[in-house]
Amino acid sequence: HLPPSLRAVVEASRAHGEKIFLVYEDERVSFEAFYRAVSAFARELQAQGVGKGDRVAVIMRNLPEWVMAFYAAASVGAVVTPLNAWWTGPELEYGLTDSGAKVAVMDAERYERMTEHLHNCPELKRVYVSREVDEIAHPHVAKLFEVLGEPNDWAKLPDQPLPAVEIGPEDDATIFYTSGTTGKPKGALATQRAVNSNILTAAAAGARSFLRRGEMPPAPDPEAPQRSALISVPFFHVTGCFAVLNPTLFSGGKLVMMYKWDVIRAFELIEREKIMLAGGVPTIAWQLIEHPARANYDLSSLESVSYGGAPSAPELVRRLREAFPKSQPGQGWGMTETCATVTSNGAEDYVNRPDSCGVAAAVAEIQIRDPNDGKTVLPPGEVGELWSFGPMNCKGYWNKPEATAQTFVDGWVRTGDLARMDEEGFCFIIDRAKDMLIRGGENIYCVEVENVLYDHPAVMDAAVVGVPHRTLGEEPAAVVTLKPGAEASEDELRAHVAERLAAFKVPVAVKFWRETLPRNPNGKILKNELKKLFVEEPA
Ligand code: ATP
Ligand code: MG
Repeated sequence: HLPPSLRAVVEASRAHGEKIFLVYEDERVSFEAFYRAVSAFARELQAQGVGKGDRVAVIMRNLPEWVMAFYAAASVGAVVTPLNAWWTGPELEYGLTDSGAKVAVMDAERYERMTEHLHNCPELKRVYVSREVDEIAHPHVAKLFEVLGEPNDWAKLPDQPLPAVEIGPEDDATIFYTSGTTGKPKGALATQRAVNSNILTAAAAGARSFLRRGEMPPAPDPEAPQRSALISVPFFHVTGCFAVLNPTLFSGGKLVMMYKWDVIRAFELIEREKIMLAGGVPTIAWQLIEHPARANYDLSSLESVSYGGAPSAPELVRRLREAFPKSQPGQGWGMTETCATVTSNGAEDYVNRPDSCGVAAAVAEIQIRDPNDGKTVLPPGEVGELWSFGPMNCKGYWNKPEATAQTFVDGWVRTGDLARMDEEGFCFIIDRAKDMLIRGGENIYCVEVENVLYDHPAVMDAAVVGVPHRTLGEEPAAVVTLKPGAEASEDELRAHVAERLAAFKVPVAVKFWRETLPRNPNGKILKNELKKLFVEEPA
């Protein structure tokens, strides 16, 4: 039975009682303690006049109080608006003013970054700051832990129910901002029904592999040990919040947080907390595989390493199988506008189709349509634009009617990704419509060339971008990071591509980048930064 709202998820989670829900450094929060904190802070928000439809911004890295603030705001009917903790002061100001947030909950680092900007957010009436803060410089700012106590003390808060508010599945729940990979971030507005769809998606994905083999999935085992997940992607994007956090709260799993992503720390936590589920974005999976210290840790608790949100090389599945033979690989496709997962691929299906992001979730429907008219559904095998339909789709963009009309059409989301589907419904992402280039009339999909570069033994990281050309329009060029100690020349890499792909796809230039390529927290390479490497040079 699907809970009708985030508030109902909180209510249901109380049944998990004294089991541990959140782990962060030496802080451990049980489900009961979590419920008490959510209830106390929900009352505090109500006392500040926060009601249905008001926006409450949550601005911090992954901390127990992020989770607490998210569910407390949702429980009084507010539209929770998580902002990207990596954003600069001006970007956070944009998020606060664009959403018109009435209250913001932020950690000390974000508060310090925002001090110059708070007076530019006229609708913001109250701010709560958590963790060590030097000085509070504004009259409407309170210290969160003075209101609520620290996470380890939440169990001592009074036993009182959530304040009464009627919230239904069609009510607005969240605004998450898109990554801004192709332009300025847009706030995607989701209903309560949409954000909870992932609970169904996550539950049904496990059953699907049985159903595909014509077998009944096993009944849930009440004696099974508690599921434990390492969260290494931010809660402020839909993968962390909807694909991981919300289903974990509902199903009574344990969520282990990290101060920031660090592969050695991840190994330590997997061993110490007996983590079963890890992953997030492809880069993280690569690091778990490639780091030589892996052999020093007992990682045998891992049952699944999965990721999504960005393209991953087909090679990654084979490498995961070698490194973690007992763990199932998985990948999913989704976007902010679809509240995370729409398609997923896993286990043997994924090994057999390492370049597919899988089949549509139980709740979802997908189509490949002609990009020119946005209507004609294309037959299997043909490349077109991917469209997504289902309860997880957002309603539209916050305060952006024109962009909404372009992307949200009759309940469908027009994704801007180019893909094809096979006869069995497996979807293959070819590239973003904006990440392909046309060289003298020939389409070049950056991902295809990148995957060939990844196959070269010296290459650790690769990105292909289009660089302007006077007569051809654009030409492909590559930026590559080599593995530590490995060597390869520009000519060698170009020859490697030339052996495998048509001549017009061979990068005209290859530049070497010393560190891992610049990425946003979703694991997406910041291609606009890389393009500058080629464009700023005189021809
Ligand atoms: P903006 O829309 O502001 O430019 P964005 O599209 O990067 O930013 P997100 O909503 O975070 O913002 O990302 C969704 C996009 O991520 C998808 O449209 C797709 O291009 C990419 N993506 C997600 N999952 C996968 C996957 N499994 N394989 C390839 N690409 C993926
Ligand atoms: Mg997008």
